Amino acid sequence: MRTAPTILHLDMDAFYASVEQASKPSLRGKAVIVGGLGPRGVVATASYEARVFGVHSAMPMAQARRLAPNAAYLVPRFQLYRAVSEQVMELLRALSPLVEPLSLDEAFVDLEAGGAAWDEASARLVGSALRADIRRVTGLTGSVGLAASKMLAKIASEQAKPDGLVVIEPGSERALLEPMPVRTLPGVGPATGDHLRRAGITTVGEIAEAGEDEVVRLLGKAHGQALYAMALARDERAVVAERETKSVSVEDTYDVDIHDRVRVGLEVQRLAERCVRRLRAAGLSGRTIVLKVRRYDFSTLTRSETLRGPTDDAVVVREAAARLLEGVDTTGGVRLLGVGVSGLADYTQEDLFAQAVEGESEERVGVEDGEPEGERVRQEGEGGERRWVPGADVRHAEYGYGWVQGSGVGRVTVRFETPGSLPGRVRTFRIGDPELVGVEPLPLVPGVVPGAVR
Ligand SMILES: [Mg+2]
Repeated sequence: MRTAPTILHLDMDAFYASVEQASKPSLRGKAVIVGGLGPRGVVATASYEARVFGVHSAMPMAQARRLAPNAAYLVPRFQLYRAVSEQVMELLRALSPLVEPLSLDEAFVDLEAGGAAWDEASARLVGSALRADIRRVTGLTGSVGLAASKMLAKIASEQAKPDGLVVIEPGSERALLEPMPVRTLPGVGPATGDHLRRAGITTVGEIAEAGEDEVVRLLGKAHGQALYAMALARDERAVVAERETKSVSVEDTYDVDIHDRVRVGLEVQRLAERCVRRLRAAGLSGRTIVLKVRRYDFSTLTRSETLRGPTDDAVVVREAAARLLEGVDTTGGVRLLGVGVSGLADYTQEDLFAQAVEGESEERVGVEDGEPEGERVRQEGEGGERRWVPGADVRHAEYGYGWVQGSGVGRVTVRFETPGSLPGRVRTFRIGDPELVGVEPLPLVPGVVPGAVR
């Protein structure tokens, strides 16, 4: 392990909610909750003002509404989040060739590999300058953790939140970890956490005390050894650039086009299982499930869905692939099908069963930890109804730019304000008013156009 805190972990603060507050001046300083608003929706991100009421990401939306009835409830605008994320990642890539994004709003950076820092003082300077740059370019705050390993850099950024910077000095790691709950360690999901608790182990220090043999006996060899090492603050995992682009996939070309929808579904299930076997054989797990469909006319579609954490569970991959297939028109026939998993990791971060349940209830809206499934949401927008969901961008011929505050019984309420304006006024229109149209999001910082930062 290195001896200087030159691994940086950046985590944007309450990312989706902060983007919404930056976009919508009337929501600054207010409780804002972004997520799926349907009956089975979950919270993707809650602003810090909403967290005071006990609302947090991955919580069922119905529960959030009971806890914070007066909060603003908004549907995610992934297109904008992606554009802002790209601005942030661009700043990180200027520091080092080794940038490992974990989600839209989170990444590791190896500062030493980029020559940007070599000791604590230089790392601190880079971290502070980065936070200032992020604020200048996006108008948002991000928290920075610096340490000698990925695990500790992530713990540091968590401690730095919101809007801070924390350095964990090499040598102090074990003392810091000791009192922390076992769930702090990567690879400890709810199931592993329960398992350890039943054995009387609740803190990281207790894992270290139990000894490697005992932890291996409880959790199996691979998981147990990895966890024991982490508990001793031994984490040699390298920052790996562009990991998201690597994938494990399988595909089949059919001699005769498949027309039967049921058969297409069965083939996809079979491919998902084969893909998982290959994934497991390589000792990997992945977060993004990809479905590929080549149709009779050789048009090829890919659809993807990203989970909260990596999985190597056949049930989870099969279900995701089946959901993706639902959105694909296969009339006319299919000549090739493929299933892949990307966003690969060396270990499985989340409890698999919990993930399967979450996957069902998330209404295809990802939570902040995972790259959400924007494609599908955008497609719905083409139908027109998306224009009137809470939070959506609109423009009125007379009143200008605004966003949908709510709609129902043939009416839509719009607040007219923009990122650079004062809090705006609310007006109500009938749905179908030809003067009111859906538009693309405006940039958060006037003059800085997302996607054109280079
Ligand atoms: Mg974050």
